[in-house]
Amino acid sequence: MPDPTGSGRIDDDGTFEEQRERVDYPMRRLFDEYGRANAAPLSLGLLASLVAHTIALLPPIVLGVAVDAVFLAEQPYELPLIPGAIIPETRGGQFWFSAALVAGAFLLSSTFSWIKGRGLNVFAQRVQHEVRTDTYAAMQRLDLDFFANKQTGELMSILNNDVNRLEQFLNGGLNIATQLVVTVGGIAVVLLYLNLQLGVIALVTVPIIALFTHLFVQRIQPLYAEVRSTVGRMNSRLENNLAGIDVIKVSNTENFEAERVTDSSREYYDTNMEAVRTRIKFFPGLQLTAGVGFVLTFVVGGIWVFSGPPGVLSGSLSVGTFVTFVFLGQRLVWPMAQFGQLINLYQRAEASAERVFGLMDEPSHLSTDDDVPDLELTRGRVEYDDVSFSYDGEADDEPVIEGIDFTVDAGETLALVGPTGAGKSTVLKLLPRLYDVSESTDSDGSSPECTEGDGGDSGAVRIDGQDVREVDPGSLRRAIGYVGQETFLFFGSVADNIRYGSFDADREDVIEAAKAARAHEFITDLEDGYDTDVGERGVKLSGGQRQRIGIARVLLQDPEILILDEATSDVDTETELQIQKQLDRLAADRTVLAIAHRLSTIKDADEILVLEDGRIVERGTHGELVEADGLYAKLWGVQAGQIEDALGARSDEGRSEVGRP
Ligand code: ADP
Repeated sequence: MPDPTGSGRIDDDGTFEEQRERVDYPMRRLFDEYGRANAAPLSLGLLASLVAHTIALLPPIVLGVAVDAVFLAEQPYELPLIPGAIIPETRGGQFWFSAALVAGAFLLSSTFSWIKGRGLNVFAQRVQHEVRTDTYAAMQRLDLDFFANKQTGELMSILNNDVNRLEQFLNGGLNIATQLVVTVGGIAVVLLYLNLQLGVIALVTVPIIALFTHLFVQRIQPLYAEVRSTVGRMNSRLENNLAGIDVIKVSNTENFEAERVTDSSREYYDTNMEAVRTRIKFFPGLQLTAGVGFVLTFVVGGIWVFSGPPGVLSGSLSVGTFVTFVFLGQRLVWPMAQFGQLINLYQRAEASAERVFGLMDEPSHLSTDDDVPDLELTRGRVEYDDVSFSYDGEADDEPVIEGIDFTVDAGETLALVGPTGAGKSTVLKLLPRLYDVSESTDSDGSSPECTEGDGGDSGAVRIDGQDVREVDPGSLRRAIGYVGQETFLFFGSVADNIRYGSFDADREDVIEAAKAARAHEFITDLEDGYDTDVGERGVKLSGGQRQRIGIARVLLQDPEILILDEATSDVDTETELQIQKQLDRLAADRTVLAIAHRLSTIKDADEILVLEDGRIVERGTHGELVEADGLYAKLWGVQAGQIEDALGARSDEGRSEVGRP
C-alpha cells in the first residue's frame, strides 16, 4: 500500500485534506462495503479471469510436446493431466490431437474471457452506481455551510471523476492483476518445471522490470498530480467563464478571458507534456529489457539444443522445450508492461476512494436522531427564543444575529425590515433548519433541556412549542413554504417546476396554482405552454416569471407557515401589486414571516421587527413605528418619497420596468 503522505498523491492542493485524512484503508473499505454486496459477479469475474489466463498458457506447451513427439519423434507424446489412454498412437493422430487441443484451448479461453468481462464489468458498474448514489445521498444531508465552503466543481469532480476512477480500477485493474499473477506466476512455474536453469535465465528480467516499473511510478506520480491540479484549475476557469458568459459579453472582456483560458490550457499542455515525455520513455525501455531477456533465452537455449549445455549449465534441452520457452518467454513481456498501469490504476483509485469516503463520512451539523417524532402542527405558532447565530458555528464567535426574540401567533404576519446585511435572511433560515441555532462551545450538544433559558446557550426556534431540532426535518419542511429572492428552476418543464415537491399534484392543481400566482397567462403564451422547457436554471424566463413560478410552487404545497424573502423584489410594480394581492389572500389563514425592502408590502403586518447589525432595534406595528420616529420611520420616509416619484411617473411608459433584470 502506498504511503498516504507520499508526495505523489492526488489533489495536493489540500482542498479536501480534512475529509481525506479521516479515511483509513479506503480500498479495504471499498471491498468490504461494496465488494461483499456484489460478491457474485466479483468472484465469477475473478475466477473466469483466472481460468481464461491459465488456459491461454496451454498452446505453447502442447506445441512443444508436439515438436518433440510428432515432428522429431524424439520423445513419447505425454502431457501433464491428460491420461495416456486418450492420446492417439500414430504420429498423424497425435498431430491432429495437438491441433484439437490448441483450438480447444483458444475456444475455452475466449469463452472464459467473455465471462470474465461480464463479471468484472457488472461488478464495477454496480459498485460505481452504488458509490455514486450513496455519496450523493450523504452529501445532500450536509448543511449549507459545507456547500458554502466547497466549490461546486470540486464536489462534481468527486461524484464524477473519482467514482469513475474506482470503476476503472475495479474493472481494468482487477483484470490486469489476475492476468499478471496467472501469467507471470504460471509461466514461471511451467518454465522452471520444464528446465530449471533456462527457466532462471528466462525469468531474470522479471525483477529488473519490477524495479524499473517502481522507479517509473515514483517519477510519474508527482507529474500526474501536477497534471490533475492544472486540469482542476483549467476546469474551474472554464466553468466560471461559462457561468459568467453574459458578464463577459457585456464587459467586453472576451479577449481578456480568451487569454486567461489560453494560459490555463498552456499550463496544462506543459505539465502534461512533461508527463508524456517520461511515459513514452518507459514503455520502449520496458520492451527493450524484456527483449534482452528474450534474446538471452533464445541464444542460450539455441546453443544448448545445438551443442549441449553452454558454460556452467548441465542436462539436456529438447527442441520442443526450447519452442515452449520461446513462445512463453514472449508472453511475459505484455503483462509485465501492464504492471506499471496496474500500480497507476491502484493509486488513483485509492486516492479517489479516500475522497469519496471522506465526503460520505462528512458529519452533518444538522443531524437529528432517526427516531424523532414528526412535527405536530396544531396552530402554526412560531417562536424565536433569544436566538443567536454565527455562520462558523460557534456562538462564542462574533454572532451574525443576536438575541432575536419574538413570537408569531397562528395566522399572523411578522415582517423583518432593515438595511442589507442586517441578518434578516439569516433569521429566517433557522426556521426550516437551513442552518441550526449556534451551540456554545461548552454546551454538551443540542439537547433541548440545555436550550431552555439557560444562560450559556444560543436559544431555540420552536413551532407550536416543538424545537425545530427535535422533530423530523421532512415533516418540518412540509409545514413551511419558502419563496426566496431567487427562484431556482430545475431542468425540465414549467409544469414540473411548479409541481416540484408536490409530485402527486395533477394538472388541474398545477394550473390552478399558476393562475393564483398570476403565472397562467405568460405560461400559456410560451411555445409549449406548461410543457415548455425552462432551460438551464430557467434562463429562458425573466426574473419576474421565475418568481411567479416559485410562488405557484408554494401555493401548490399549501404550507401552514410561509417564509417570504423579498418575494416580490424581482417584478415590476404592476405585477407586484397583483402578486401582493395573491399573497395577502394566501397569508390570511397562515403564519407568515416576511422580509421586504419595499415597506409598502408589509405595512399591514401584525408586527414589524427592525433589524440592524443582527439585533432587533425597533419593534411594533407600522403605525407605532412611524410614530416612534426611529430607523423605520426614516426608511419609510425615504420610500414614501420614492413611491410618490414612481406614481408621478406612472404615465411614462416603461418606467415601472426600471430595475428589472
Ligand atoms: P440580510 O438578509 O439582512 O441582507 P443576511 O442575513 O443575508 O442579511 O446576512 C447577514 C450577514 O451574514 C451578512 O454580513 C452576510 O455577509 C453574512 N452571511 C450571509 N450568508 C452567509 C454565509 N453563508 N456564510 C457566512 N456569512 C454569511
